[in-house]
Amino acid sequence: MQKLVILGGGESGTGAALLGKAKGFDVFLSDRSPLQVTYREILTAAGISFEEGTHSEDKILSANEVVKSPGIPDNAPIVQELYRRNIPVISEIEFAARYTDAKLIAITGSNGKTTTTLLIYHLLREAGLSVGLAGNVGDSFAAQVIDDQKDFYVLEISSFQLDNMYDFRANVAVLLNITPDHLDRYDYDFQKYVQSKFRITQNQTQDDNLIYFAESEALTDELEKRTLPARMWPISLKNKVEKGGFLADGVLTARNHGQEFSIAFDELPIQGPHNAINALSAILAAQAVGLSPEQIGVGLRTFVNAPHRLESVAKLDGVEYINDSKATNVDSVYYALGSFDRPIILIMGGVDKGNDYSQIEPLVRQKVKGMVALGTDTKKLADYFESIVPNFEVTQSLKEAVQTAQSWAKSGDVVMLSPACASFDLFKNYQDRGERFKKEVEELRLRKDVLS
Ligand code: ADP
Repeated sequence: MQKLVILGGGESGTGAALLGKAKGFDVFLSDRSPLQVTYREILTAAGISFEEGTHSEDKILSANEVVKSPGIPDNAPIVQELYRRNIPVISEIEFAARYTDAKLIAITGSNGKTTTTLLIYHLLREAGLSVGLAGNVGDSFAAQVIDDQKDFYVLEISSFQLDNMYDFRANVAVLLNITPDHLDRYDYDFQKYVQSKFRITQNQTQDDNLIYFAESEALTDELEKRTLPARMWPISLKNKVEKGGFLADGVLTARNHGQEFSIAFDELPIQGPHNAINALSAILAAQAVGLSPEQIGVGLRTFVNAPHRLESVAKLDGVEYINDSKATNVDSVYYALGSFDRPIILIMGGVDKGNDYSQIEPLVRQKVKGMVALGTDTKKLADYFESIVPNFEVTQSLKEAVQTAQSWAKSGDVVMLSPACASFDLFKNYQDRGERFKKEVEELRLRKDVLS
């Protein structure tokens, strides 16, 4: 019996264990941290052996193949030892893809993955196709392919998944952008991160499609070095491309396979230039799998995005409060700032992943009338912005951050949490940070109601 070891017992690891068992492997799952109760129960019920709080080397190193959770870095000693012994280490997506004949639509990029993935999924589902959602969103891909009945899967793929993907082939690949992020996992070498993202194109043939944003510099620089067989669908915010998608005069147009689709951008529930790129990607993907213009139009108009992404929370005294907690790198803050023509009070900070703030400096000068720096890495923000913005304050409390922002705001302004940093200092995760921001805004409203 082939021995399959799963490292990491979260959603993807537990799913991979279930799939491994269903396919006749001798499965062992190991997680160095305690497992969540639900996953522990699933594994126990399935009769899969596992350990938590430790990695037993002897068991792990006896594997024929290992499925590694994307959360475990390559430099973890146990992973290093696996590589040294030439034991294949693959990702859950790679493992799951072996067991399905469905068409695979895979989305990657530094920003916009979740929005675009959810939108493509929504378009296909509303059109009545048999479609699953997996990868970094939704349920484990591996668990879903156990009784594989879907015709399509829409997969959100991070670079950490891509790093351990080898034979996976995307029928439709979307590469949204490549800007610095997660460099701590790539030896602070941006080119390594670029190479990782481009693995989304590996194994693609001339029957497959590559949709990409043509104004992402690192992306196009790398494209120029390569000859890729897939059909190419560039997206532009500047030029009316002959093939591909573009935004011009407020209209999104996508031209694919002799089909042209267009829609006024302001008819869509998602706004801002970054969402024009995301929407065009989704339209081109939908065209590639044969959706009609009518089906695409209906789906676009009825989409509801996931929370914490430029989410409008409340309007109080004419001030709009925006929760963009998911903006965990500088590029996403750049697009967030570009989405408003009003003065902005920006709440930033958290755990800095090696940020270079020069990208947003011009927009900050132009639009930001106040900045509150919150959390662990406020010094870099202070050094960079204190002398640039009219108001600047440092705090360790989100409540204080929101109150300070309110005190600076005038009717017509925007108060936005768009941190450019990870959230693991004061919060559990970006969702927790976003929820607490919303709660603080709600308290402002309650206080106002009491006073009035
Ligand atoms: P991801 O899954 O890649 O993190 P999300 O869709 O969750 O992407 O969005 C993350 C953050 O990036 C949000 O703050 C959002 O406003 C911003 N964003 C979304 N799409 C893009 C894009 N195409 N380019 C740059 N920033 C984007």
